[in-house]
Amino acid sequence: MQPEILKIDKQEILDQLQPTIDSFNSEFDLPNEKRINLQGLTNMKKTQKYLSEIVDKVVLDNLLSDSRFSVLDRYHLRALADFSVHSSDSADQNQVTGCWLNILPSSDLDQLMESDEFKISCQSRLGLDFLNQQVKCSKCREMVDVKLHHLSPCDKSTRHHALQKVIFNFSRDAGLNPSWEVKCFDDSKHRPGDVYFPHFPAISDKKVAIDLTIISGHSNFKSSGVRQNTIKNLEDADAEKNKIREKCLKNGIDFFPFAMDTTGHFSKPASKLITAIANAYSGKKGVSFSTAKDLLKKKLLFTLAKFEARHSADFLRSLGFLGG
Ligand SMILES: [Zn+2]
Repeated sequence: MQPEILKIDKQEILDQLQPTIDSFNSEFDLPNEKRINLQGLTNMKKTQKYLSEIVDKVVLDNLLSDSRFSVLDRYHLRALADFSVHSSDSADQNQVTGCWLNILPSSDLDQLMESDEFKISCQSRLGLDFLNQQVKCSKCREMVDVKLHHLSPCDKSTRHHALQKVIFNFSRDAGLNPSWEVKCFDDSKHRPGDVYFPHFPAISDKKVAIDLTIISGHSNFKSSGVRQNTIKNLEDADAEKNKIREKCLKNGIDFFPFAMDTTGHFSKPASKLITAIANAYSGKKGVSFSTAKDLLKKKLLFTLAKFEARHSADFLRSLGFLGG
C-alpha cells in the first residue's frame, strides 16, 4: 500500500484531538460546563471562541501542572489552548512554549517560515498525524512514525548550527564579544563548546564556553510508556557534559551546558544564560530586560520549530508530497 499524506481537514483535526481531550476529561472531575468537548464544531471561528471559554486560566493551570500527564500531553493541550491564550491575553503569551507563534515575521531578522513549515509546525504542536501509515527512513532505514517524531533525533545537525547562530548573534548584539572558534585546550584541537566569551562577568570570573544540546521531547516521551519529566531529561543532558566541564575548568574556562528540548523547555543553566545574555542586551540596546529575554526565547523557539518543520517538509517532499 502506498503511503498518503493526510489532508489538514478541520473535522479530521477535531477527530484526532478527541482521544487526548477524552483522556483529560476522564482524569479530571470537572463540572460539565468545564469539560472540554469539541464534537459537533464545524465553524473554526466558533472553535476559537469556544476554546477561550472552556480553557479558562484556572482549568488550564490545573491541567498543565498535573503530574499525571506527560510533558507531551501537556504540550499538546497547551498548543490547543494557545489558540485562545495568544489572541486574548497578551501578558501571558510569552510565558508559553508557543511564544514563537507571535514573533515578528521578517526576513531581515531571519524570522520567516515557509508556509509549509508553518503548517507542519502547528500540526506537530497539536500532535496530529501526517501520514496514514509508517514509512522507512531514508537515512537510517528505521520506520518513521505517522507523526514524524522519528525525524527529529535522526537528523539534527542543521538545527544545532541554526540555534548556535541565534545565541552567537544575540550575544554579539548584546556587546558580549562572543566567538565561534577558540582553542581551549593546549593538548588538542577539540572544541568543547559552541559559543565562547572572553569576558562574561555576570556569570563567571573566567572565560566562558557554552555548549548547546537539543533533546527530542517528542520521541523521548513517546517511546517509553512512563510519564517522563522534562526537567529530568534536561538535567541528564546537562550532566552528560560534566567531564568536559572539569577539563575546561582545569584550563581556566567555565563551561555551561545549554540544553533545550523540542517541546520548548530549557534546562536551568540554559535559563540562567538566557537571563544573563538578555540582561547585557537590555543594557546595550536600551530595551527593558523582559523585552530582551522574550525576544531571545522567541528567537530560539522559533528557530527550533522552523528547523524541526523543515526536516519534516523535506521528508514529505522526498515522498513526493508538498510542492517544490
Ligand atoms: Zn532515521
